[in-house]
Amino acid sequence: MATYSHSRVSCFENCPHQYKLRYINKVEPEISETIELFMGKRVHETLEKLYKDKKFKKLVSKATLLKFYNDNWEKEYSDDILVVKENLTAENYRKMGKKFIEDYYDKYKPFDQLTILSLETQDRMTLKDGSQWHVRIDKFACDDKGNYFVCDYKTNASMKDQEEADSDRQLAMYSIWVKDKFKDVKSVKLVWHMLAFNKEAISERSEEQLKKLEDETIALIRKIETATKENNFPTRITALCSYCGFKSQCPSFKHELVIEAKEEVKDFKKDDGVKLVDEFSELKTRKKELEEKEEKLRDDLIAFSKKLGVDIVYGSNMKCSVKEFDKIVLPEDSDEKEKLMSLIKQKGLWEEFSMLCYPKLSSKIIKGDVDKEIKNKISIEKDFRLSLSKRKDVEEE
Ligand code: SF4
Repeated sequence: MATYSHSRVSCFENCPHQYKLRYINKVEPEISETIELFMGKRVHETLEKLYKDKKFKKLVSKATLLKFYNDNWEKEYSDDILVVKENLTAENYRKMGKKFIEDYYDKYKPFDQLTILSLETQDRMTLKDGSQWHVRIDKFACDDKGNYFVCDYKTNASMKDQEEADSDRQLAMYSIWVKDKFKDVKSVKLVWHMLAFNKEAISERSEEQLKKLEDETIALIRKIETATKENNFPTRITALCSYCGFKSQCPSFKHELVIEAKEEVKDFKKDDGVKLVDEFSELKTRKKELEEKEEKLRDDLIAFSKKLGVDIVYGSNMKCSVKEFDKIVLPEDSDEKEKLMSLIKQKGLWEEFSMLCYPKLSSKIIKGDVDKEIKNKISIEKDFRLSLSKRKDVEEE
């Protein structure tokens, strides 16, 4: 049975296909480690050392701690670490991390505000449906009044506001673990050390909120398990795709990477996929132009037939009949539409005039929201929907 975690279920929420590649197919991401992640790791291990030494009644000096940080930076750094932001270098990030540690040190020295229970805590908890949830806490501490503290170090460049802290799933799930494990719990405080701002964001959850969170998490796990059973992991294109390490295996980007690899423009134009899409898009544009032209011709033919008082207009090889007819116009206003429908029902004519709503029925059947007996009467087959959109990375000619 899989053990779920905040990052695992978040991956599914962000993109089911990335989830499949990462957690089911266990594909290694191609992207190099980013400098933000690298700096975060160095800061985390430095603060871990600070509290580890403190456990043995050794107060490590700021200078020693910074040396530890710098030495590890040197040892672990490699040239393939990715610095994406323009005008910034790895050295800028090293200095940022150093400043985070200095500020933290000055703010919390002598580090005896709380009793440290564990660092980089790793555990599992069983949710009420039997699912396993991975627990990993940067710093887990308590005071002597039964207050427990689940602390997370954040090196992000944006401050977590209260609303964000109060809706965070990761630490809140650990509240459930704490309450289950320690019977003297009076409160569980969720603390984010926002190191870039030298501030804390704090949140606490009520029993009711935790129950709701656990239920929602279990529902999400069910959704993941259904997707796994049906091997149904669609791609989800968002801004996060720029940072995805699985692009070359993603059906939504694989072809783009193939044609990008063709250096010469003429090579790229020779690609079969490029040729097909170009032809398809040209045809669609022509079709739209023809439809507009047809509409205009229709109006002109009606005007012509009216002017001449005829109902057939003759061409060289074809003739066109222009016949006027009565068509009904339903009310556009939704209240009026509603009233009309009620009236039809009242008059006992609904059966005669209403018809099956295909889009609604189709959506319910596909989602599995329809009675089994009805579902069994309908078969599902595969079809394709093609839609064209502009490539954002290509400049207009
Ligand atoms: S590139 Fe985007 S759509 Fe493709 S797997 Fe990654 S996140 Fe999903």
